[in-house]
Amino acid sequence: MRDKPLLTIIVPCYNEEEVLAETMKQLGAILHDMKDKLVIHEDSDLLFVDDGSRDKTWEVIENGIAIQDHISGVKLSRNFGHQNALLAGMKAAEGRADCIISIDSDLQDDVGVIPDFVEKYRAGYEVVYGIRDERKTDTRFKRGSAHLFYTMMGKFGIHLIPDHADYRLLGSMALQEMNLFPENNIFLRGIVPLIGFKSDKVYYHRKERFAGESKYPLKKMLAFAADGLTSFSVAPIRFVTGLGALMFIVAIVIGIYTFIQHLSGTATSGWSSLMLSIWVIGGIQMMSLGVVGEYIGRIYSEVKQRPRFIIETNSYVESGHEK
Ligand code: UDP
Ligand code: MG
Repeated sequence: MRDKPLLTIIVPCYNEEEVLAETMKQLGAILHDMKDKLVIHEDSDLLFVDDGSRDKTWEVIENGIAIQDHISGVKLSRNFGHQNALLAGMKAAEGRADCIISIDSDLQDDVGVIPDFVEKYRAGYEVVYGIRDERKTDTRFKRGSAHLFYTMMGKFGIHLIPDHADYRLLGSMALQEMNLFPENNIFLRGIVPLIGFKSDKVYYHRKERFAGESKYPLKKMLAFAADGLTSFSVAPIRFVTGLGALMFIVAIVIGIYTFIQHLSGTATSGWSSLMLSIWVIGGIQMMSLGVVGEYIGRIYSEVKQRPRFIIETNSYVESGHEK
């Protein structure tokens, strides 16, 4: 390893024209400061990944590339989603950077703690997690839903680092090992703890978005939670199996009861109970099919081995950044 690590800060952007110039400015200032203090290599840089934005995001990035040599950009051919955009950035930086830091483009994550991440890396930590120490600035709904998410995931046996999103540092070793996880519906927060290595945490205050709106509407958030759940756990399938077994026992008891009633001659057409049973069992079957289908859908998308992202332009390599 070099005595001063080469750091690449990876920033996924989707329709972020309003905030991007400011993000470039703030991250650029931090980078320069760290270079001046000789804590990072002078070739350290910022890598913006445009996740198929429909606004002027790419123009802003191109503009940055043109006037600052510590800025590069990767443009994806369409919107592949936050996780895949991050992955594209990480793949681009692999082999060149000694460590990467991934951060959202909206300045919600405090850029001021970046030197703390680097300090931990220099002290020998291969993975450093950014943890928000409060969620005051998030809407109540977002706070509540995030809490529910962690509780639910924990119940299903998926242990995530609470209040850690995608603000983290990865050393080149950890970065390389990401290749061992070729899954399509990737959920980085769940994968990173599985890679192992020595890790530590950095705490920070999460702020309000600097400008623009959240690119994670409820629909995307639910899809994200479903990905996280089904790509790490077979617990829902087991739950359905258990439910089926329970229903079977109940059915035997009801069967015996009905038989006794029949023998004693008091069974005067149990129409309502019959209807009820049909509906209960029908409902459970339907639900089970849904859960099984969900997994089959995922198997389907994994076996297709489709690319997780497609790069249209990559200035990170063009600008002679290779090692
Ligand atoms: N993002 C992305 N692709 C998407 C959605 C979001 O690259 O399809 C980026 C977005 O530009 C931002 C980060 O992912 O840098 C997090 O998104 P956002 O701030 O909207 O999420 P929130 O903070 O509201 O959870
Ligand atoms: Mg945000």
